Amino acid sequence: MKVGFIGLGHMGAGMAASLLRAGHEVTVFNRSPEKAGSLAANGAEVAARVADACRGEAVITMLANDQAVEDVVFRQRGVLASLERGAIHVSSSTISVDLAERLTAAHAAHGSRYLSATVFGRPDVAAAGQLAVIAAGAPGAIEDATPLLNAIGRRSFVISETPSMANLVKLSGNFLLASVIESLGEAMALIAKAGIDRGRYLDLLTSSLFDTPAYRLYGGLIASGQFEPAPFPAPLGQKDIRLTLAAAETLGVPMPFASLLRDRFLTLMAHGGERLDWSAVGRLAADDAGLA
Ligand code: NAP
Repeated sequence: MKVGFIGLGHMGAGMAASLLRAGHEVTVFNRSPEKAGSLAANGAEVAARVADACRGEAVITMLANDQAVEDVVFRQRGVLASLERGAIHVSSSTISVDLAERLTAAHAAHGSRYLSATVFGRPDVAAAGQLAVIAAGAPGAIEDATPLLNAIGRRSFVISETPSMANLVKLSGNFLLASVIESLGEAMALIAKAGIDRGRYLDLLTSSLFDTPAYRLYGGLIASGQFEPAPFPAPLGQKDIRLTLAAAETLGVPMPFASLLRDRFLTLMAHGGERLDWSAVGRLAADDAGLA
């Protein structure tokens, strides 16, 4: 397909490369243009303006947050003003349920189509084209975008005809991951203070009760204390807990553990955590326990 890709950060660069590998005709745009270099070498067209990435059948956005998506979509000659009638905006960023609803309405009014296709998986998974894609939108739009979703993911889960439901499900998943990070951090502080080796403890957990990728990945990072480089920087995780709580408030769903996680991220940020991976929340319990 002829597709534009906007946002070549940790995730977007790998996703755009996957689209090229699958044979799509890709035009990329990034606010900081130097990030397009390696994709251009692999056959991507580089757009100088957002509008030039919106000439195809679809455009995918993978941007940091609500503010970035609003800016790129609603600006003069932005995504909304530039897409042809019937073309599809596939939004993969982790944004608020509220913004996804506004994007759905704005595209409908403009005559373009809107899908949310959020993703699970870190940048290495994106680069391998192996993301889990959570897609929601009108069936026709999902069908037309399927070759793109197949290129970026190992599997797509279509969960609703209402696009914003993909954003809600994505936020719920990141809430669960942050909960795993916090609870692993507390359990590891407990056993480490008593002198038990964190690595051996993690091996026991992941070989018995918790034989899952999330425990393996985040347990390894917490046990080793390696929070840099940061494939998923803590400010993005903090944003996801904030957006989870906003959605919970709208729906009237108390989430006491999410409220606690909100404070844990505030603590991490107050102690210089901006540049660390979000798994650094898992070291706070050890700090509180006076462990080195
Ligand atoms: P990232 O590396 O920080 O990249 C963010 C992208 O957004 C960059 O292309 C950046 O452009 C662009 N951007 C930021 N503000 C902008 C603005 N005001 N106008 C235009 N462009 C702007 O983030 P990422 O890790 O790729 O994550 C992207 C999205 O995916 C986020 O919503 C994140 O929560 C979600 N996500 C991340 C992961 C992960 O493991 N990293 C996994 C799943 C989902 P510049 O290059 O010019 O700064």
